[in-house]
Amino acid sequence: MDIKFSFKLIAKENKSRRGIIKTFHGQINTPAFMAVGTAGTVKAMTNSDIEKTGTEIILGNTYHLMLRPSDELIAKMKGLHNFMNWQKPILTDSGGFQVMSLAQIRKISDQGVEFSSHIDGKKYLLTPEKSIAIQHNLGSDITMIFDECVQYPATYEQAQKAMYRSIDWARRSKNAFIQRDGYALFGIVQGSTYQDLRKISAENLIKIGFDGYALGGLAVGEGQEEMFKVLDYAVDLLPDDKPRYLMGVGKPSDIVGAVMRGIDMFDCVIPTRSGRTGQAFVRSGVINIRNAKYREDSQPLDDKCQCYTCKNHSRSYLHHLVKSNEILASMLLTQHNLHYYQDLMRDIRNAIEQNTFSEFAKKFFDSNKNNELLLE
Ligand SMILES: [Zn+2]
Repeated sequence: MDIKFSFKLIAKENKSRRGIIKTFHGQINTPAFMAVGTAGTVKAMTNSDIEKTGTEIILGNTYHLMLRPSDELIAKMKGLHNFMNWQKPILTDSGGFQVMSLAQIRKISDQGVEFSSHIDGKKYLLTPEKSIAIQHNLGSDITMIFDECVQYPATYEQAQKAMYRSIDWARRSKNAFIQRDGYALFGIVQGSTYQDLRKISAENLIKIGFDGYALGGLAVGEGQEEMFKVLDYAVDLLPDDKPRYLMGVGKPSDIVGAVMRGIDMFDCVIPTRSGRTGQAFVRSGVINIRNAKYREDSQPLDDKCQCYTCKNHSRSYLHHLVKSNEILASMLLTQHNLHYYQDLMRDIRNAIEQNTFSEFAKKFFDSNKNNELLLE
């Protein structure tokens, strides 16, 4: 069995790409959406439900898992795949983003980041070497380098300093990474919204050499227009023959726009998180099922959707469950939302294969103009 990590492009339309990534735990069709499984669970979903949505890869968070239950415990349980019994690919982030956004009392130096756990205040030091060792213990198919994420907006000086430090950390991450067939290490391009910094970052990472390249530091409050502006030049800085991952993105329109600009992989909490707050993605946009107008609506959430929720339950019933704070509401809405996202990805892939993606995107933007407002 050939289990070498690989990326093959099978179709292109302008900058949009249709590809296949092969990993130790199986293949991923791109453009791909990764469901976020922060603490070793995609919230409110069983593994078989996740698979039914068409999800081929999930994401785990180094920061959360190192704190609880700890990567040592997961290693004892023979890795995250076995621990949670998910036998398809897993990507783990490096913890860089979460230490900046969640941890208390952090101190950054060239060595790494010292922080206190948001759970019990216990002190930790996360370095590039430590982050890579944790991800090795988790057994991730795709490991991310440890980088320094700056807040948005960042001054040029802040972005520059963090970008150069991240290049050093990228080198250290690569040195610490234990290569195994079928497993990959991705670099992360930083530089905020500064074109020359993005260029320096990409060039240096390519020199170090990674199996794939991510764009970090976007979807952090800059807005869609600014993000697309960065993608317009930053994607061109990346090699053609490696997967490109836009971290933490996004709303359906962000994804369609980023695929137009050459991105292959996405992850975001939006479909799962909004499922737990009563929001549902339907083909005409986003609806809030709490709204009184759904109280007597006997229609499914989306009559074109083939998910369990839409085939079995009405908006009226879902409205009742959400209003009553029933656990089943989160489960059914999350299932539907992830299904919606994976249907969208399948439609995108088919359109690129048929060379009709530009048309698809135009139609999508025309029909979705104002209906993602609930998410703002
Ligand atoms: Zn559905």
